[in-house]
Amino acid sequence: MKPVVSLEDVTARYGPGTPALESVSLDVAAGEIVALLGPNGAGKSTLLRVMAGALAPESGTVRLGGEDAVAMDRRRVAQKIAFVTQTSDVAFGFSVRDVVMMGRAPHQGGWMAATGEDERAAGEAMRLLELGDLAERRVDALSGGEQKRVAIARALAQTPSLLLLDEPGAFLDVRHQLALYDLLVDLAARGIAVALSMHDINAAAQYASRVALLKTGKLVAVGSIENVLTYRTLRETFDADLYCGVNDVTGARFFLPMRQTQRT
Ligand code: ADP
Ligand code: MG
Repeated sequence: MKPVVSLEDVTARYGPGTPALESVSLDVAAGEIVALLGPNGAGKSTLLRVMAGALAPESGTVRLGGEDAVAMDRRRVAQKIAFVTQTSDVAFGFSVRDVVMMGRAPHQGGWMAATGEDERAAGEAMRLLELGDLAERRVDALSGGEQKRVAIARALAQTPSLLLLDEPGAFLDVRHQLALYDLLVDLAARGIAVALSMHDINAAAQYASRVALLKTGKLVAVGSIENVLTYRTLRETFDADLYCGVNDVTGARFFLPMRQTQRT
């Protein structure tokens, strides 16, 4: 598969000192879900920001559909990439329907008059995130998890070819987490490239096509669940012991954090 986004030898930093991201090369292809895992401060959010074009790398290249993303027109980037940030601020004072419709802005003309296509894309996004009953509610009157689903729906209304999500499961209850991950699998099957950061290693093992492990700005490992999510690489990445088990019916891997017995 041709990569939708391609990072080559990317270094990025916020100021002097250690770079937040160092010499990272990573592709995300159409139809795949790449999970970014790593401890706090590893560079997951920074990597997503660079992919989204929200942070210019200090060195290295970012290609979007083969083009240099840094030089690309912002509006064209927004037509291709949707980024659900960790805080994913939704505009307060607006209804759920209005906020989801804002995802259509990169496709609309100067007056932002909604076309039938805009209505269809926003309606479909609300349906996929089960927001139908909340459509006329003001976003400020919703729970954190509901607001997160609105932000994801706004991203889907953008009809991106690359969907980036920063810890999207964090505020969601278990059913909505599973529904979201299933939805990402459906979107990938339709040819969208998905990259997300997460702390749930079990969800990554079940839903991701590939995983990338980050630590102190460097890519520790990238590849299949079988090759990357091993006791040894997880131990090196997180400085924690995880029991790695295999479901003997499905063959799926699962992980349990272990009590650290060597501490004094
Ligand atoms: P992660 O998402 O894996 O927790 P981040 O990408 O947010 O990690 O952070 C990587 C490094 O960059 C950390 O050392 C963090 O302190 C630093 N960093 C992140 N955002 C900023 C910022 N806006 N300004 C300065 N430093 C930042
Ligand atoms: Mg982060």
